Amino acid sequence: MVQSSVLGFPRIGANRELKKATEAYWQGKVSVEDLLKVGKDIRANNWKLQKEAGVDVIPSNDFSFYDQVLDLSLLFNVIPERYAKYNLSPLDTFFAMGRGLQRKATETEKAVDVTALEMVKWFDSNYHYVRPTFSHSTQFKLNGQKPVDEFLEAKALGIQTRPVLLGPVSYLFLGKADKDSLDLEPLSLLQKLVPLYAEILKKLAEAGATEVQIDEPILVLDLPQEVKAAFKTAYDFLASQSGLPAITFATYFGTVVPNLDAIKELPVAAFHFDFVRNPEQFDQVAAILKDNQSLSVGVVDGRNIWKNDFAKSSALVQKAIEKLGKDRVIVATSSSLLHTPVDLENEKKLNPEIKDWFSFATQKVKEVVVIAKNVSGEDVSAELKTNAKSVSNRASSNITNNEEVQKRVASIDEKMSTRSSPFPARLEEQKKIFNLPLFPTTTIGSFPQTKDIRINRNKFVKGTITAEEYEKFINSEIETVIRFQEEIGLDVLVHGEPERNDMVQYFGEQIDGYTFTTNGWVQSYGSRYVRPPIIVGDLSRPKAMSVKESVYAQSITTKPVKGMLTGPVTCLRWSFPRNDVDQKTQALQLALALRDEVNDLEAAGIKVIQVDEPALREGLPLRAGDERAAYLQWAAESFRVATSGVANKTQIHSHFCYSDLDPNHIKALDADVVSIEFSKKDDPNYIAEFQNYPNHIGLGLFDIHSPRIPSTEEFISKIETIMKSYPAEKFWVNPDCGLKTRGWEETKLSLTHMVEAAKHFREVY
Ligand code: GLN
Ligand code: ZN
Repeated sequence: MVQSSVLGFPRIGANRELKKATEAYWQGKVSVEDLLKVGKDIRANNWKLQKEAGVDVIPSNDFSFYDQVLDLSLLFNVIPERYAKYNLSPLDTFFAMGRGLQRKATETEKAVDVTALEMVKWFDSNYHYVRPTFSHSTQFKLNGQKPVDEFLEAKALGIQTRPVLLGPVSYLFLGKADKDSLDLEPLSLLQKLVPLYAEILKKLAEAGATEVQIDEPILVLDLPQEVKAAFKTAYDFLASQSGLPAITFATYFGTVVPNLDAIKELPVAAFHFDFVRNPEQFDQVAAILKDNQSLSVGVVDGRNIWKNDFAKSSALVQKAIEKLGKDRVIVATSSSLLHTPVDLENEKKLNPEIKDWFSFATQKVKEVVVIAKNVSGEDVSAELKTNAKSVSNRASSNITNNEEVQKRVASIDEKMSTRSSPFPARLEEQKKIFNLPLFPTTTIGSFPQTKDIRINRNKFVKGTITAEEYEKFINSEIETVIRFQEEIGLDVLVHGEPERNDMVQYFGEQIDGYTFTTNGWVQSYGSRYVRPPIIVGDLSRPKAMSVKESVYAQSITTKPVKGMLTGPVTCLRWSFPRNDVDQKTQALQLALALRDEVNDLEAAGIKVIQVDEPALREGLPLRAGDERAAYLQWAAESFRVATSGVANKTQIHSHFCYSDLDPNHIKALDADVVSIEFSKKDDPNYIAEFQNYPNHIGLGLFDIHSPRIPSTEEFISKIETIMKSYPAEKFWVNPDCGLKTRGWEETKLSLTHMVEAAKHFREVY
């Protein structure tokens, strides 16, 4: 029999139980016992669900109250002194590292004030992990035994599991040295760390675990030679220890072919590879297996919501069986299912035709089992038949295919993706129209999304106020925002985005080819979950999406108001994409929809149009080389297709945030003005990188994530620093990002100070 296995299951609970419980615990509303109980119930449910589905290899230790990488930091005692010193309980220390803690002194406890550890994107997913932070004083030791406890918990339910651990080399490589130990190279800690892995693995074996899954996902990155060499050191050491469980060595989210030399001699029982993302790596990776090693074939997508194609997956697994024999092949999910929503059955409002194409974590678990049965020769003909029908229905559906859109994408040419004149000529025309002062001031788009806005939006969605009433309300919000901006003297205004629930969803809801879930939550970090829109078919815009609000805003002021759109790459990146056409095609379809919108805005008299691409940087493929170059090319092309239909005199803005941006990545977009997140980057080298950026740029001057109000002097000194290596005539003055999460009070003061600082420089220059 070919075995089936799951690499990890979502831990948020079918109805976001984990979020509710952790947040209630943080607010002091429930006890630690209550919180632990919720965790225990979620784990039990997950195991039972997989057991009942017939999964052979069920994961444990895939649960976490915050983040699985942070779990390891707690387990190995990688706890910086600034957290350890408060003598909090292990769980509270863990939360303090994950999200920071500020607590006033009480009679029994002293005050706590500590910021969170750095949070980083987990490879190219929208999950974020808490970065292990090492210092010279880190004292490695086992702190508790979470993996063993959870293994035993499952065992007590009669369920044998395979514990999951992030591997030592990835754990160190994904970490960093703490501020006080910047000369420390995390990988140099390997010798201290690996014995702890041996110790915890031994404990697992003693508890009855026969196998473990050790993830080394960094193998899909470009790795320096010393990192590659570390795998052999670490895994030879583990192999030299007696009595450890058998290791399945897992990678995912990419191809390992460029790093095969690093793993081909590793003494592990099995390798797992992601054949959803990179089926073409099969021959090369299968070739490294020794006679006593098994292959875990990742064919059920852990990163998306599409139903598996059983025929296709079975064929790939069959290929493995032919090479290795049935008992050396395991059918698996491509990665942990952490990145998929929990259960499709909870979706009551989806169009049934579309619902039939989807599979969430609960359904994917069953898919692994059916494929394993199929390749083992069991009769699953009924399942195969239904599956084939779903797959062909989707392929031929009118929702999937829109010939007109396909034709239009095919007709995109150089002209459509190039502005009619280069930037200097455009600038001349724009100067005449806008007549902006030096150090022009603007904001990124959104203004505070107040409770009142949310209440009215809900009323409108529920139908308790009419469309006219809602429009009147939105217009009055827009007017408030416009009047405020005029009052403090901003130069290029925005309408404030009060009508938008979310920058992607708002447009997605107006674009054909998108669908939405009611409960499709996926963990982004800690207790923050997102519900990504889903691209189900060819994308098109039936009618204008944002013109009404922009036109209204422009009609009540003589200053220019920016039209405000979300760019094609961001719409794509923050959605579940299709898996039947490539990402470039989807981005270009979105670009065409946005192009029509941009042109409509221009025709309606909007003279400045901003197309945000905050997700541009995060979409960058994990490895340098051809794939990355190709991405940057189509990302830039999509942006230009969206924005090149306008006249020279129309000023195109763009905005980027969330990560270090390489100015070279945005040059090809050819926006007239870009604004980027910058306030926390006081590094002069980073400023210098932007010196040669050819068009105009606004380096964000204050952090919109914090309620802190910078003084005018602070703005002045920031701008002064920038002016040391940046030409004043190209510089715009703006915040880091939109202000939707801020309150009005701090917004008013911060922006007033920002404008005062700009006025100061106009006098100096
Ligand atoms: N225009 C959007 C806003 O101001 C941009 C948000 C973003 O970059 N994340 O909210
Ligand atoms: Zn932003």
